[in-house]
Amino acid sequence: MAQAIGTEARDVFITGLKNAHAMEKQALSIMGPQIERIENYPDVLQRMQQHKLETEGQVQRLEAVLDRLGESASGIKDAVMSAVGGMATLGHATAGDEILKNSFANFAFENYEIAAYNSLIALAEEAGEMDAIEPPRQNLEEEEQMADWLETHIPDVTHQYVALRESGEQAKH
Ligand code: MG
Ligand code: FE
Repeated sequence: MAQAIGTEARDVFITGLKNAHAMEKQALSIMGPQIERIENYPDVLQRMQQHKLETEGQVQRLEAVLDRLGESASGIKDAVMSAVGGMATLGHATAGDEILKNSFANFAFENYEIAAYNSLIALAEEAGEMDAIEPPRQNLEEEEQMADWLETHIPDVTHQYVALRESGEQAKH
């Protein structure tokens, strides 16, 4: 029952691609409702709209790699990712400070994605799939930029939140 050399690594890589696909679907399901609710934070709104578009492109990149490896992307059952997604939306909607909690959760989510893509790139190397490294690298780059943006804007968002509270707009997101 000898396996061809590299088969195990290839299987792990394909599983990693499918997990990344599920992660990005989760990202879209988190960003969509947040974007709809933001009214008073135009910078956050614009950056999240941009990242939603980037994320749709990330899904397509992953599907293209899976297709090339003979894995049907349409057959993927995206398991709900429980590790980080759970804290990213639910429970924040009724709190006045949801813009802050969502910012923290989004920053955590982006860093989860960064870890996942660094691992996925290592898996592509293990599997010898050097043609499949560039798409996860592109996704990683976008996650790093989004994480940087969130990190540097958390003080601004916090100051804006306090200013809105002081002007009696505390219910607005
Ligand atoms: Mg992503
Ligand atoms: Fe992201």
